Amino acid sequence: MWHNNILETVGNTPLVKLNKITKDIPATVLAKIETTNPGNSIKDRMALKMIADAEKSGLLKPGGTIIEGTSGNTGMGLAMAAIIKGYKCIFTTTDKQSKEKVDALRAFGAEVIVCPTNVDPEDARSYYSVSSRLVRETPNSWKPNQYDNLSNSQAHYEQTGPEIWEQTEGKITHLVAGVGTGGTISGTAKYLKEKNPAIQILGIDTYGSVFKKYKETGIFDKNEIYPYITEGIGEDFLPQNVDFSLIDHFEKVTDKDAALMTREITLKEGIFAGNSSGSAVAGTLQMKHLFKEGDVVVIIFPDHGSRYVGKMFNEDWLRERGFLADEKLTARSIIAK
Ligand code: PMP
Repeated sequence: MWHNNILETVGNTPLVKLNKITKDIPATVLAKIETTNPGNSIKDRMALKMIADAEKSGLLKPGGTIIEGTSGNTGMGLAMAAIIKGYKCIFTTTDKQSKEKVDALRAFGAEVIVCPTNVDPEDARSYYSVSSRLVRETPNSWKPNQYDNLSNSQAHYEQTGPEIWEQTEGKITHLVAGVGTGGTISGTAKYLKEKNPAIQILGIDTYGSVFKKYKETGIFDKNEIYPYITEGIGEDFLPQNVDFSLIDHFEKVTDKDAALMTREITLKEGIFAGNSSGSAVAGTLQMKHLFKEGDVVVIIFPDHGSRYVGKMFNEDWLRERGFLADEKLTARSIIAK
């Protein structure tokens, strides 16, 4: 038995029970480990779906160039598919993204242009603007636009939702997912709520992002926007893939709590997951009053710890940001807490 190429291995990721880190929660808490996708992240799913839909609609033509603003994981999925399908890739990203992510994209043959983080999306230097300009200037190019391209959430409606429903035998009561483009939470939620409208959908947001305030007040408040460290989630605008009507509650998590929880996941569960997984577990613990015995909570773990070895997995990095005093983050010190 074999797969015809690496793209056929995307999806069907495992669901793994968390045993120690969520011991204060009376429910069964399960992690959907998306790192087993070949690009090591959940974004492989939507990258493939956006490409397949663009090929069908004729937006992406043979030998074309894919140009996208991506924080790395989407780029990885796109670059992997581009190699198999014969496309070129140019990505714009921000100077906040880990070097490991940018290097990995270059390893997949993509051209990567690093843009400043702390400028308005409309600013000509922003990674959104630069990618739009490159699309205008590059013949036979296509911009997936992961934020507003609904093939993104559709991938999760077709795959992630059904997988979770089947893996929990329909017993899931709560879904916890970080919200960036919104594709993961909205597509998965749509499928799950169609199966059982009582399932609660809990979105993880960052301080410095607009989602939570917008959900609670309907106001797009620019004062909510400021720089933050957490990668992959939170935004300074409202992507079309975020379907606010499907999300019951947003929980914000600090950069420090997300970073330290990322470490704790590895040390307590042996799962080497990325920064937004830490955010999602920290947020789940903040919401523990919502869960009761018999509940089945599924937390999405979007990407792999290897992309953060120079960041939260590095003690000097944590100390420089005041996230850690002098102690060493050994398994024993964490578990003794
Ligand atoms: N975590 C990580 C590490 C990501 O790269 C992303 C994608 N931006 C997310 C979470 C959020 O997923 P989505 O874009 O589907 O909302």
